[in-house]
Amino acid sequence: MTDLKVAIAGAGGRMGAANIRAVTATPGLVVHSAFDRPGSPAIGRDAGEVAGIERLGVVIVDDAEAALAGAEAIIDFTVPAVSVLLAERAASLGLVHIIGTTGCSRDEDWAIQKAGSAGARIVKTGNFSLGVNMLAGLVRQVARALPGYDVEILEMHHNKKVDAPSGTALMLGQAAAAGRGVDFDASAVRGRDGHTGPRVPGTIGFAALRGGNVIGDHTVIFAGETERIEITHRAESRAMFAAGAMQAALWAKDQPAGFYDMADVLGVKEQD
Ligand code: NAD
Repeated sequence: MTDLKVAIAGAGGRMGAANIRAVTATPGLVVHSAFDRPGSPAIGRDAGEVAGIERLGVVIVDDAEAALAGAEAIIDFTVPAVSVLLAERAASLGLVHIIGTTGCSRDEDWAIQKAGSAGARIVKTGNFSLGVNMLAGLVRQVARALPGYDVEILEMHHNKKVDAPSGTALMLGQAAAAGRGVDFDASAVRGRDGHTGPRVPGTIGFAALRGGNVIGDHTVIFAGETERIEITHRAESRAMFAAGAMQAALWAKDQPAGFYDMADVLGVKEQD
């Protein structure tokens, strides 16, 4: 079987570099092309060189359309507006589209899901790591088993991160809401400042810290009257996000067009 030809979106970014290394190291996948935004310092450079590995003979371009020609899959950790446009192109070209981008609005998420029903094979998740996806299952179970406990989610990331709360924190909040059988958007308290009054029972609170080089720490706290459970995940390397994205690409190539998440890829999807 021939290797799946992958176009790397945002090739000059932190995750872009991790994805170039991961594609190169994964049997069954090959870097077909790489692109970034016009003006990015990565444009014109070799993708392998930018990722700190051997030269791949793939020059990073600023023309997404040219990069998609002949590609079979897109690995995309960029920004929401770009992921929406790429999902629409993936639908018309029938491509696998692996999306790690976080911070999408409800409308952007909806447009991406629509691309799944229009012909793309999309896997999108706020976190591609095995550990966080296991943690989400655990959070769902604990939230269901301990309905009276207050749920608070604390996250910390590096000082370049632009969205808050993180995609992973939101994903963990959604897992807690699913465990409780409540609507996530109606329960989420995404920040507190000033005279906020006492905590509203049943809400799911978020706090976001930013600093240094932290790749991603998440703690879900279940606070009861007489005890507190804290479940923590710490990302030690971007390589595990990239490894999950590779696993998703290899899985998605054999699926019908649709919109999937990492629980589908890992076979741990729970029904609501
Ligand atoms: P980054 O800023 O280092 O990289 C983003 C890249 O996208 C940059 O190189 C930027 O130039 C590029 N880009 C912007 N506009 C573009 C365009 N029009 N065309 C092509 N490329 C364009 O950020 P990062 O740390 O690599 O994170 C990227 C995204 O991935 C963020 O949303 C982050 O939260 C998310 N992320 C997700 C996971 C996960 O597991 N789902 C893990 C880590 C990061």
